Amino acid sequence: MDGQYLPMSEAKVSVLDWGFLHSDATYDTVHVWDGRFFRLDLHMDRFFRGMEKLRMNLPYDRSAIEKILSTCVALSGHKAAYVEMICTRGGSPTFSRDPRQSENRFIAFAVPFGSVASREQLERGLHVAISNTVRIPPKSIDPTIKNYHWLDLVKGLFDAYDYGAETALIVDINDNIAEGPGFNVFAVKDGRLKTPAYGVLAGITRQTVFDLCGELSLCVSAGDIDRDELKGSDEVFITSTAGGIMPVSKIDETVVGDGKVGSLTRQLTDLYWEKHADPAWS
Ligand code: PLP
Repeated sequence: MDGQYLPMSEAKVSVLDWGFLHSDATYDTVHVWDGRFFRLDLHMDRFFRGMEKLRMNLPYDRSAIEKILSTCVALSGHKAAYVEMICTRGGSPTFSRDPRQSENRFIAFAVPFGSVASREQLERGLHVAISNTVRIPPKSIDPTIKNYHWLDLVKGLFDAYDYGAETALIVDINDNIAEGPGFNVFAVKDGRLKTPAYGVLAGITRQTVFDLCGELSLCVSAGDIDRDELKGSDEVFITSTAGGIMPVSKIDETVVGDGKVGSLTRQLTDLYWEKHADPAWS
């Protein structure tokens, strides 16, 4: 943080940082598996693209940041880690309200990798509830910038818990499916895959599914998916860096397909983890 390596308990940010006060920040999360980053290039591309769009600058270039991330992982001692890099607007020493006078802040940390879904959930599939909460992008927030604007996603999550489900999907302004708290979603019907196109984060795991579909010669597209289409799918899965490819077996009261993890979901999940041993994907 700010050029220093610290134990997690000593890494503290000022309450006056605009990242905290105004959610004025971008970040990215990449995971390390068996000591190796997975698709670091794509995460760095997204992080630098976000900073550029937000007009933030750091005194580090890409290779300097990669070195900092590697050092964090080495110091943490974790072979399987979850690594986050953050750039906040920072703050102005004179408390100016002019963002141009802020010194942007860089923070990175490595914590042990802990998947968002348990082994048991991965074997039986998750129960997801569709909330009526509307995802704000793309009207007010550029969804290609990975951001901390999660008020809608957290509200959706509470709706899902109230419903008795394990996680949530929220909708776009046209009531089509958007995404969930920290993940993208895919539907499979008659061997074809589809994922929402607009107003969602361009997830790296989503991109990885596109790439894996290319290798497997599977047909995949991005487009509108309404509630009925999602519920009528043969298979549904969600994707994130923190959890990989995770099956969904129930949506609201509807059992997806035969209620078991689907064969395409399984095939893609196996290939996804196989790629972690391939240096070309690190
Ligand atoms: N959608 C949102 C809103 C997210 O915050 C995330 C990850 O944090 C994702 C989707 C999944 O993106 P990725 O696969 O890059 O982790």
